[in-house]
Amino acid sequence: MEELRRYRLIIFLVLIILGPFLAKFFSASDINLFKIEDDLKLGQKLSVEIANNPSHYKILDPVEYKEAYNHIYRIVKTILNSGKLKHRDDFRWEVKIIHDDKVLNAFCAPGGFIYVYTGLIKFLDNESQLAGVLGHEMAHADLRHSTRQMTAKYGTDLLITILMGGEHDQLTQIATNITSLAYSREHETEADLASVAYLCGTEYDARGTAGFFEKLLQGGQAGAIPEFLSTHPNPENRIENIYKEAQKLGCKNLKSTQDRYAELKSLLP
Ligand SMILES: [Zn+2]
Repeated sequence: MEELRRYRLIIFLVLIILGPFLAKFFSASDINLFKIEDDLKLGQKLSVEIANNPSHYKILDPVEYKEAYNHIYRIVKTILNSGKLKHRDDFRWEVKIIHDDKVLNAFCAPGGFIYVYTGLIKFLDNESQLAGVLGHEMAHADLRHSTRQMTAKYGTDLLITILMGGEHDQLTQIATNITSLAYSREHETEADLASVAYLCGTEYDARGTAGFFEKLLQGGQAGAIPEFLSTHPNPENRIENIYKEAQKLGCKNLKSTQDRYAELKSLLP
């Protein structure tokens, strides 16, 4: 026991000395010190907070609006069945529709808790565009961007906690304010490209997300800046990158899903 404490003290001191180097290392690498269960726990926590704040997040009743939910679940299932998500079976991938026609947004909390605003659904023209946006958001969760980013930010502290035998729960406590962490430029690009890969080979146009950006640019939708535009890469570049990626992957399927999409819109309040 005495021995163990001595080792821990040595490790602790080494880590303190190496701190600045480690911080650089964590932010430059894809290392994630969090466990898969941590992603789930963080997402769960966020989903409880959202559920407890109905004045801000008006969740559409999944029973009353069952048919609308079925449409979204069908799209999410198509994306999951692409076989390209790493954590298809680890994460929850549950969906909530938020009733707010002014918000052109969707987001996905760690662990696969997906939220989509009625404003976004009504703004888009076809299912491929919505699938593209959902794919982008699901990619943030599947690629574990939040916990990777927290590793980059708090990596050394986290490592010390783990090695000092701290309770694993302490890690998730460090990460309480997860929503305030905006994704980096690299993670936005990663999510854009992952969305193309997910949709490629499904019934959807793999460039769906680009369709969303194009509409946004056409409409000059300032003001309601959604998650996807919250960070640096400008929409024009992103459209170009999405087109290039779809071409590179040889994505072909361009089936029209307009009718089904009109039905989904008609089922919303
Ligand atoms: Zn994003």
